[in-house]
Amino acid sequence: MFELPEYTVLAKQINTTLTGKTVKAGSLGNSPHKFVWYNRKPEEFAQLTKGKVVGLARVQGRWLSIALEPGYLLLFGECGGKILFHPAGTPLPVKYHLLIHFDDGSALSATTQMWGAMELYEAGQEQERQYIKGMRVTPVEPAFTFEYFNNLIDEILKGEKRSAKSLLTQDQILPGLGNSIAQDILFQARIGPRRPLAEFTPGQRRDLYAAIVDTLHEIIQMGGRNDETDLFGQPGGYVRLMDSASAGKPCPECGTTIQKMQYLGGACYFCPKCQG
Ligand SMILES: [Zn+2]
Repeated sequence: MFELPEYTVLAKQINTTLTGKTVKAGSLGNSPHKFVWYNRKPEEFAQLTKGKVVGLARVQGRWLSIALEPGYLLLFGECGGKILFHPAGTPLPVKYHLLIHFDDGSALSATTQMWGAMELYEAGQEQERQYIKGMRVTPVEPAFTFEYFNNLIDEILKGEKRSAKSLLTQDQILPGLGNSIAQDILFQARIGPRRPLAEFTPGQRRDLYAAIVDTLHEIIQMGGRNDETDLFGQPGGYVRLMDSASAGKPCPECGTTIQKMQYLGGACYFCPKCQG
């Protein structure tokens, strides 16, 4: 699944590759897939996209929007899979869930492996969509300051109890983060996945904030995670520290064996010594 860094990399690449291209023909999938969420019929999608010009791409959490001017916006959300640019004259995927041909012969395709939204909105209407409407500050925005983060934890503590992993992965409290990135953030902050938020020291709040910002920055700088591909089909350069490949191996910091545990709907990988 794409998480915030991969979407950010895709948006940057779209902005340098696709901006200004004119849509010759837009089509929805040729491969039935009941977990792809469309909001348009194929003929409607084709009619509304034809002749539109690609504008700015931007990211909000796990949602990537691409302006189709005038007046529309293509929205990808909560996807795993591939969003690929195809230069003119190169082969297109046999199966896809969305394909846009541009008038210079190049194309954009999207194919999801699990689920995801591929929707077309009148610009602005996407802000009313469930999961986007009311979205909290994304951790790559300037508004994501330590003061914001500290207040957010105080606010959450007034409600239900949460652990460190729950803060990072549940209910999009920190939009765009997911289980993959959360493991490395928690390791960098030296905080265990189960540690209750209520027991965080002021220093741990600082450490977790810094780990979120630094880890995201590093993954984006490296072009995303190495198990996801970018707009050009190239894997990212970021190799996760804490994942299935590191379970049972020594912690890079202290040498203690890295453990795996099922917790909150997914596997956690952590160092029992470093992460208190
Ligand atoms: Zn360790």
